[in-house]
Parts: sequence; structure tokens; C-alpha cells
Amino acid sequence: MKLVDAHFHLDLHKNPPAIIAECESKQIYTIAVTNAPSVFFHTLRLAADTKYVRAALGLHPELVATHAHELPQLLRQLDQTRYIGEVGLDYVTTDSALRSAQRRVFEVTLSRCAELGGKIITVHSRRSAGDVLACIGTSFPGSIILHWFSGSLRDLRAGLAAGCHFSVNPAMLRSEHGRDLIRALPRTCILTETDGPFVQVDGRGAVPSDAIQAVNGLAKLWGIDSQEAAAIVLSNFENIIAPTNPPDSRQITA
Ligand code: MN
Repeated sequence: MKLVDAHFHLDLHKNPPAIIAECESKQIYTIAVTNAPSVFFHTLRLAADTKYVRAALGLHPELVATHAHELPQLLRQLDQTRYIGEVGLDYVTTDSALRSAQRRVFEVTLSRCAELGGKIITVHSRRSAGDVLACIGTSFPGSIILHWFSGSLRDLRAGLAAGCHFSVNPAMLRSEHGRDLIRALPRTCILTETDGPFVQVDGRGAVPSDAIQAVNGLAKLWGIDSQEAAAIVLSNFENIIAPTNPPDSRQITA
């Protein structure tokens, strides 16, 4: 069974080469997000020559306060990868100047990605789903993956209407609200992720092979077996990464 981990922090693991070896041998498609442009190159080198691990260039909204000066570096590096993340907004902070600095970084990043086209962007939207979706708009020329989405059902429908995908993790499946959101999503727009090491599994930071837990949770919600759930997720991911991916090919059912 091939797995998908659409959001994993490879560079925060203590042994990235071991994780990469496991992704390659178990054929786990993994988007290795980074939190700042200054650490992207390291992950890009680690992921070079792999089939399953893709390095993503990001500037995490919670790091905007300290790393906003790296935005020009991010924009310069955008042509080095098709994968972008972790980017987005995080409104745990109530500081309006900081929120607006986050929006500026996110908007500039999205706008340059839109110009380049075809990017696959993994997006953080904690307590900020409405503004995140406003920044993305309704016809973004690229693939948006809303990672660990925790907004309202209304926000979720707006994300669907905008053509977004949603990557779900074991923590989301443990939460009642998380499961409610997943039930409201068509199967064709769901991916799995671990967000390790931030998501914990069995008292340790999750790793890409733990995407099986998300698959098992989806299988249970969908009333199908895990093999079948994994095949659906894999097919969704393959549609996104296909070089000819037309942005609006997915049927909106919600
Ligand atoms: Mn993350």
C-alpha cells in the first residue's frame, strides 16, 4: 500500500536520512515542508535524487515576526521547487500589526506563485480560515492543500468551492470537529499528512509511515477497508502532481 504524507517537517526530525530511506523503501510520497527560506536549501539537498520526497519552500506564519526579512529570499528560490509550504496565516496572535505582516507575506508569496503557475502549496490556516481563503481567491492557478484545516463548515465549503484539497492527520481524526469536517468533504479532495513532529502518535512525533493512521481513520469514517482508502488518497495525490494537472478538473460535490 502506497501512502501519502502531504505535510511533514523532515528537517525537524533527528534523523532525516533515515526518514528518507523509509519513504523511498515504503514508497511514501512525502512533502517535506520547511518553515523558513534559510533552511530550505538543506531539505532540497536531502530530497535530491529521491523519488518520493519533495522539498517545499516555506515561511511559516508564526515565524513572520522574526523571519519576514527572508521573504525576498523565498521569492528568489520559488523557481527551485514546485512545492511550497509551510505558508499561510496563524491568528493565535491577536496583534493586528503581526497579523497584517503575515497577510502581506502570504499574499506576496501567493501572487508570485500565481504568476509562475502550477505550484502545489501546503497552507496553514489556524483561526484564520476566512482570511486565508480570501487571500487564495476562487480561481487560484495552482494546487492549494489546506493542511490540518480546523475552520468552520462554512469555511470548508468556501475552500471546496475554490478547488482546494485538504490534508488530514491523525490528530484531526481524533477530534470530533475534525471528523465532522472530513465527513463534509468529497473523497476526491482528501489527502493524508502527519505534520510530524507537531502531531504526536503513541507519545512521539509522527513520521510519514504514520500516515497509515490517517488512512485507517478515513477508512473507518468512509466504511471501507484501508487498502481502498489508501488507493483513493494516492489517486488524489497523483492527480495533483500530474504534470498536466488542469486546475479545475475536480467535480465539486459539496
Ligand atoms: Mn506544519
